[in-house]
Amino acid sequence: MAERIVEHYFGGKRVSDASAASTEMVRNPATGEPLGLVPMGSIEMADKAVAAASEAYEDWADTPVGDRVQCLFRYKQILEDNIGDIADIVVAEHGKTKGEAIGSLRRGIDCIEFACAAPILMMGRTIPQIAVSNSFCRTEDEGGVGIDSQVDRVPLGVCVGITPFNFPVMVPMWMWPMAVACGNTFVLKPSERDPFSTIREVELVADAGFPPGVMNLVHGGPDVANRLITHEAVRAVSFVGSTGAGRHIYATAATAGKRVQCMCGAKNYSIIMPDANREAAVDGVLGSAFGNTGQRCLAGSVVVCVGDSAEWFVPALVEAAEGIRVGPGCEPETGMGPLVSAEAKDRVLSYIEQGALAGASLVLDGREAAMPTIGCFVGPTIFDRAGPEMSIVREEIFGPVLSIMRSETLDEAIRLANRSEYGNMAVIFTDSGNAVRRFSRNIQAGMQGVNVGVPAPMAVFPFSGWKGSFFGDLHANGEDAARFYTESRVLVTRWI
Ligand code: NAD
Repeated sequence: MAERIVEHYFGGKRVSDASAASTEMVRNPATGEPLGLVPMGSIEMADKAVAAASEAYEDWADTPVGDRVQCLFRYKQILEDNIGDIADIVVAEHGKTKGEAIGSLRRGIDCIEFACAAPILMMGRTIPQIAVSNSFCRTEDEGGVGIDSQVDRVPLGVCVGITPFNFPVMVPMWMWPMAVACGNTFVLKPSERDPFSTIREVELVADAGFPPGVMNLVHGGPDVANRLITHEAVRAVSFVGSTGAGRHIYATAATAGKRVQCMCGAKNYSIIMPDANREAAVDGVLGSAFGNTGQRCLAGSVVVCVGDSAEWFVPALVEAAEGIRVGPGCEPETGMGPLVSAEAKDRVLSYIEQGALAGASLVLDGREAAMPTIGCFVGPTIFDRAGPEMSIVREEIFGPVLSIMRSETLDEAIRLANRSEYGNMAVIFTDSGNAVRRFSRNIQAGMQGVNVGVPAPMAVFPFSGWKGSFFGDLHANGEDAARFYTESRVLVTRWI
């Protein structure tokens, strides 16, 4: 039987691409089972998707914002009704546990709820009587003519989103709900590695009453992304993915005159102070390092133990990590699923070898965990006494590998963290307000946490990566998102 080729979605319907230049197989990473093919290199389809978005734009931008968000209210309910089915697709193609998949969908739904506030978020401002003009006075008695001024926030046009594999449903929701609520139309290019849940997310927009062409999706890899981000009809580009790709997308799209925001890779630090609540520190780091199998831009993949905290922290963490059950995400007892692909597994195994060769102490070896023999599994891995120059400390591994360093003081721990090229997030575990204050003021990371493993991005606040973790000005989510997807228009008025 011919393998299913996943369809694109534009003009309000699924569009099959049987003549795609090439295809790539998507497999269940827990079993190796083929799930279907994704079309690659469909430049023509990308152009058609942009054409559909362009055609729909004028009417959609003219639709009152209060009517536009009614579609989002309906869409939220549709997603709630389908949450279990979509989570199952995420589990099958990505490898997350069912709980992780549901959790990520819930965070996506938060973004829809927030986008329903577009009537407030895109509201303009007015200053009546900002000036008085005298040039049109007819008599002295009439005095000057008052001038009013206002700024409106108006949509941009066709916006594009390029998204990564690790949250195939949630990350697109950082983008398109706010973009369309503000009156734009949207073309999404999801990851080629797990496209089935994203196409399901997108095709449900028709049931919510969005007119055809408002929301569109085209599959493919970098060539399709590069076509979209330079297309003359596209006004803005949102990207989430690795720092290498983000740097390229930022430069290329900006050169082509687009507004661009790129949320990129990370290497995140957790600092453990000697006075920390021990249970909270171990639980927090455990979830942060190994949740989502370490495939998270907010994974806390480096720990710095300050003073003598390593004495209690390292053995307790190793014991807790040994207790994580590794297996297929669809099994309810599973604590950690597989990596997304065989290539991802090879990359993670190579980092484990590099760490061992560099002289870090492998206190928990994920290659020896009890786990299925087929599938892309690597167990939780912990290196102690890692050094700041080692690749396991400097580079984003994107797998369940944690490196622990030690420092005498908090200031030294902060200096170690600030050597990183990235600045997505950092957390501290302590009971000391003074330590928290020093940490917060000096650590170079935009998302900060105190006694939490992951300072999770909330829909109402911007996802504030810094340094090599973000290129642009306005971040995803929060008021930044409404500003990113709108343009300001100033009107100066004089009635004579
Ligand atoms: P990736 O960079 O390989 O791919 C992301 C998207 O970009 C995909 O759609 C891909 O097709 C496209 N792409 C890749 N290379 C490209 C190129 N040269 N030109 C144009 N498009 C290109 O990332 P991934 O492996 O799918 O996802 C993991 C990465 O995403 C990690 O680095 C992770 O930290 C990052 N991430 C960051 C955030 C954040 O908010 N900062 C959130 C989630 C994931």
